Amino acid sequence: MKAARLYGPGDLRVEEIEAPGLPEADWVKLRIDAAGICGSDLHNFRTGQWISRSPSTAGHELTGTVVALGEGVDTVAVGDRVIADSRFWCAECAQCRAGRRHLCAALGFVGEICDGGFAEQAVLPARLLHVIDAALDERVAAMAEPLAVALHAVQRLPKTAGSVLVVGCGPIGGLAALLLSRTFPGTVLVADRNQARCARVARVTGATIVDLDRDAIAAATANAPLLAAVEATGSIAAFTQLLGVLDSGSAVAMVGIFHGRLDIDPNLLVEREIALLGCHAFADELPDAVRMLGELSDPLLALIDREIGLDDIPAAYQRLLAGESDGLKTIIRMRQPVEPA
Ligand SMILES: [Zn+2]
Ligand SMILES: [Zn+2]
Repeated sequence: MKAARLYGPGDLRVEEIEAPGLPEADWVKLRIDAAGICGSDLHNFRTGQWISRSPSTAGHELTGTVVALGEGVDTVAVGDRVIADSRFWCAECAQCRAGRRHLCAALGFVGEICDGGFAEQAVLPARLLHVIDAALDERVAAMAEPLAVALHAVQRLPKTAGSVLVVGCGPIGGLAALLLSRTFPGTVLVADRNQARCARVARVTGATIVDLDRDAIAAATANAPLLAAVEATGSIAAFTQLLGVLDSGSAVAMVGIFHGRLDIDPNLLVEREIALLGCHAFADELPDAVRMLGELSDPLLALIDREIGLDDIPAAYQRLLAGESDGLKTIIRMRQPVEPA
């Protein structure tokens, strides 16, 4: 079968490999239907930060159809369509035992600690699989995992009035804007230096585009206080600018993956009571995200950047790393859809 495997930093190869055999006990074999490229896939490709085995078939945002069961699996059946939890937790550490699997002391991710979804087939532990509606569009299903990440970030923010700002209209920022536009009582603002991408998110979600500038934000919100923000750029420059436009008493859900160090005067946070909330993957939000997929199908489809095949993944990584994308999500489809006659 064909698979896209990461060998080392900057070294992703699409190659023909042996298909997985029958799954071992408690594992399940899937035929992959679709998968999404995540910012963390790009980060790992660029830096190698999370490479724990090489080569590893990348991809943790995946949806597939169950084709074989290992011994003892009774939570899914052959023919079920499923999505996967990306978090490969240990189940034994204090955090796991307390139900905080996203903070597991030994946490790894599908695609890194085990082979992932950028392949025609994959084998995964049954405990990571969630059955989805058989009628759900596979491209929408592939967005369950990033939707859970966005949901976790949004739910980390305190309930507040005023306005909320999403900085960064990549996959997680865009999905956060989508969720906030449906639930947040005040104005939802979006900012991104990629104007085409920001415009697409604003069009799909109804959010208002602003520059990271106090006057621009005050004008867009009729001077409503800016008390909540989602940082989804991972850019030190953008984050520093964001701190400058927040009102006192605000909170920032930090979900972007950074590539640098921050140099700020901590008194800025102390005196203005600004809370920085780290957001790592998701806690228990994946089932909720799966339940929302049907209702959100239309906006989710409208946020897709491109649909590609496995062979196109290396070029897509280069394009996404260069910032050449006006949509949110590049979706890999294993089989091109059959055009109706
Ligand atoms: Zn992801
Ligand atoms: Zn654990």
